[in-house]
Amino acid sequence: MIINSQKRSFGTGPKVSVFTLGTMRSVESAISMYDIIKSAHFAGINHLETAPSYGKAEIFIGEALDKLDQFEKVSKENWVITTKVLPKGNFNELKERFFDSLMNLNVKKINNLAIHGLNLFEHLEWVLEGEGRKFINWLLSQKLIDQIGFSSHGDFQLINSAINSDIFKFCSLHLHLFDQSKIPLAKKALGKNMGVMAISPADKGGKLYLPSDILKEASKPYHPLEIAYRFLLSEGITTLSLGASKPNDFDLPIKLANATQKLSRLEINVITNIENESNKRLGITKCEQCRACLPCPSEVPIPEILRLRNMYIGNGQEEFAKERYNLIGRAGHWWETKNANNCMSCNFCVPKCPNHLDIPGLLKETHHLLLDKPKKRLWG
Ligand code: SF4
Ligand code: SF4
Repeated sequence: MIINSQKRSFGTGPKVSVFTLGTMRSVESAISMYDIIKSAHFAGINHLETAPSYGKAEIFIGEALDKLDQFEKVSKENWVITTKVLPKGNFNELKERFFDSLMNLNVKKINNLAIHGLNLFEHLEWVLEGEGRKFINWLLSQKLIDQIGFSSHGDFQLINSAINSDIFKFCSLHLHLFDQSKIPLAKKALGKNMGVMAISPADKGGKLYLPSDILKEASKPYHPLEIAYRFLLSEGITTLSLGASKPNDFDLPIKLANATQKLSRLEINVITNIENESNKRLGITKCEQCRACLPCPSEVPIPEILRLRNMYIGNGQEEFAKERYNLIGRAGHWWETKNANNCMSCNFCVPKCPNHLDIPGLLKETHHLLLDKPKKRLWG
């Protein structure tokens, strides 16, 4: 039986399901990609998100969609595909890469093309005035894409500028229950009728599929991931990316396929309970993420590091906090570049903190708590 999932406006392109299948976790083989896409179809998902950087994902998707069309009568026309292009290269190189994507996916046009990792202002300049602009104009004039968007791991100001540029019709952002700093940007984009996709609320949102006992207890009667998904949907986020790799990864997307309503009283109470439990555990050392301490002369990303401390101590999400902390400085412009060890204890930030936190002391403590061996990234 196919789940009848709500389909929602996504910029000026075709409507998309409440969940989007992110394909970076199903690249082991053509068979695993086929199985996952077939499961997504039965879960009511019509939107696939991929990138040339995800190994053979585009090739496997092209094969899987043809096979589904042929053997399951799932028309290829019904899928909405988002793929990406990195913000670099000249016009001819970009054209060549785009034609590779068309060939790999075995389609004549792409619905949504996202600038992959608009993380620095120089990337935005490349789109607004450089070779990127020429390439986008050409794609649109040739009707080879329905719309252009971007994904970003960049800061608030950069994303705000990208939204203000009015070039983009959709964006993919880090929007999470446990990191709500980009929610105002999502609302701004939605106000401009842009489509908004939440990047990996399950994994990057805190490894919520592996909740600590603390988090599980505070989230009762829901699973922490369910309440995180519901929070984002109730905020109006168009679609949530799901990096599924096995059939039961679709259990919650099936349950929430139409769950875009406002939060219930019970759900609000659960979110308050999670916060209260975290506050109790962190006490007077909680970082409220206000960012008043910035800029640090040593470029230490104080709020980001203390957010990981909040997640570790307040919510018990040790594995997540360690994984993210140990990725600092190892992921180029995709994540922070300086860890807490770069703090020179100059105390410049201390008087700026409205919560009177001993920032250098907390950074030192966080470094000792979280320093571990880095994990391998899925791509790049
Ligand atoms: S004390 Fe550390 S974190 Fe604070 S401003 Fe100085 S170097 Fe930056
Ligand atoms: S000023 Fe204090 S509370 Fe605000 S982000 Fe910085 S450390 Fe956290």
